[in-house]
Amino acid sequence: MNQKNYNYQTKDDWYVGKWGEKTEITSFESEDIFSEISLMITKFFRQEDLRGLQLHIIKFSSEISLLTFIVDMVNDYFNKSLSVINHRGAFILLEHAKLLSVYVPPKGILLEDFFGKDNFSYENLGESILIATRNKGKTKEFEKLFGQLGFRVENLDDYPELPEVEETGTTFEENARLKAETISKITGKMVLADDSGLKVDVLGGLPGVWSARFSGSEATDSRNNAKLLHEMAMVLELKDRAAQFHTTLAVAAPHKQTLIVEADWNGYIAHVPKGKNGFGYDPLFLVGETGKTAAELSAEEKNMISHRGQAVKKLMEVFSKWQNSR
Ligand code: IMP
Repeated sequence: MNQKNYNYQTKDDWYVGKWGEKTEITSFESEDIFSEISLMITKFFRQEDLRGLQLHIIKFSSEISLLTFIVDMVNDYFNKSLSVINHRGAFILLEHAKLLSVYVPPKGILLEDFFGKDNFSYENLGESILIATRNKGKTKEFEKLFGQLGFRVENLDDYPELPEVEETGTTFEENARLKAETISKITGKMVLADDSGLKVDVLGGLPGVWSARFSGSEATDSRNNAKLLHEMAMVLELKDRAAQFHTTLAVAAPHKQTLIVEADWNGYIAHVPKGKNGFGYDPLFLVGETGKTAAELSAEEKNMISHRGQAVKKLMEVFSKWQNSR
């Protein structure tokens, strides 16, 4: 243990400190001022940096002088390189280029003052995620999930100038990655893209990534369904008509490895379409062993168990960890 005594004294501020067994902060100032000072110190520093700090505040008037005094003590004792900056009334703790904490005095600071009038707008405040879709239903679903994590959710309608990204990949992952990474590169934003489709075992995984265009350039949902039934006309037994709806989600952000999650929803291809809900191949997709098609489920029922619902659940399990990784 170093037995050094630290001292700082000006006309209005006077602190003394040393390092010991226990952390102890005491003061000759009034109860009110002392509790404000203690709160500031414990909020601003990490516990590990204060371990063993014995600080006595004889006179106090300047937050930045006191914080700088403690930073100097921590650097000296733990051989660290912390620094403290007064940024427009808030105090910022740095370790080289890394931001460690920000302390805002109890009376608060106007956002415009903190960020500067020219840089600040409420729309740009906080972190946002751009969903690479124009589909309102998909956007809403993601809005609910990412809203809970404090994100603003945007979609491609907020960026009308962006080019269409051609889905030229031959796997779901390639397409989802291509879309997310291309748009992230252009906008500098965190971008989530998805690619989904139907895989039929007996067709070697087709229509797969070509699900939307299975029946050619003039494809519609009913033409795609008709083509699928035609391709499977010779496969009579239901057990041989196994299929999965598949979703791959990709989240790309500058200087980060893209996060990929995927999920399958198992079922069988019916012999005739049934049900009025949903879209795409839903009327032909028999859900597991239930005998019901996806088009016979309500939107809520489908979202709970579908490929997209499952992939989104998986994403939420790993997203925060990914976001905090470098
Ligand atoms: P997307 O990647 O979500 O645009 O899906 C591509 C295509 O896969 C759609 O145009 C549909 O034909 C099919 N598809 C994907 N998800 C579903 C679903 O939940 N139900 C029915 N068809 C789907």
